[in-house]
Amino acid sequence: MSSKAFASQADLEDKQVSFTQLSEHAWAYTAEGDPNTGIVIGDDAVMVIDTQATPVMAADVIRRIREVTDKPIKYVTLSHYHAVRVLGASAYQPQHIIASQDTYDLIVERGEADKASEIGRFPRLFRNVESVPPGLTWPTITFKGKMTLWMGKLEVKLLQLGRGHTKGDTVVWLPGERTLFSGDLVEFDATPYAGDAYFQDWPQTLDNIAALKPLALVPGRGAALKGEAQVAQGLAGTRAFVSELFASVKAGAQAGQDLKSVYRATYERLKPKYGQWVIFDHCMPFDVTRAYDEATQYADPRVWTAQRDIDMWKALES
Ligand SMILES: [Zn+2]
Repeated sequence: MSSKAFASQADLEDKQVSFTQLSEHAWAYTAEGDPNTGIVIGDDAVMVIDTQATPVMAADVIRRIREVTDKPIKYVTLSHYHAVRVLGASAYQPQHIIASQDTYDLIVERGEADKASEIGRFPRLFRNVESVPPGLTWPTITFKGKMTLWMGKLEVKLLQLGRGHTKGDTVVWLPGERTLFSGDLVEFDATPYAGDAYFQDWPQTLDNIAALKPLALVPGRGAALKGEAQVAQGLAGTRAFVSELFASVKAGAQAGQDLKSVYRATYERLKPKYGQWVIFDHCMPFDVTRAYDEATQYADPRVWTAQRDIDMWKALES
């Protein structure tokens, strides 16, 4: 295997942003495979779902929102704790930042380490990183399992449908228009990052999303999905990647192979089918390392630090 630039450090080309309306109250801010932001415009206020990586980047989301409404941006919901999703929060000056209690616990436990890790991996995705205020993004409202928010007459459900991308994954669901914001539980034409994942749980969580029968779905990365067929395609692609990767790693681990051998075999196995998805080369070492951990001795993901990222990369890619 030839030597690769660490993580996404060689990925420096800006993406084209799309801002599209999916249903009466739901909008998607997407950027060709870069992290998406969801927007819910209620009767009296706006909710932003996942913030972008920095306040300067979030300012572009605000500019788009202001093209369609002047209602106050009252809520920011965090689908999970990853820095690239949460560090833009201050730009919105929301009244409330909402997250699951599990996400809050992950911020306490590993938020600082993750911030340093992600900034090191994605230089382009932390444009104007100096605009991020010191410290972390702290939720002001937490919930366990589910909560309902009424934005005027609009019912907005925040649901934990199971673990997958992280243990705190939250989806936002508009039952009246069957529109769902999945965070990184679902990706489309983009590689699922699974460094903090629960591989054994993830497929069932996707089944639980499918059971809601969404008519539109905003994935964590990739184009917004419209109609039952596209939603099913997004769910199936994510499920196939996660399942095939874990099966390959588990088989290797059970045969007594070391991590590096398992990585090489799994990379070669998945590359033909998924190699064209964005961030494939970035994600694979992290995903396989976590899958190997889960298949062997670690029920919960170990904390990634900037140093652990680089050590792992050198071990697997040299
Ligand atoms: Zn994530």
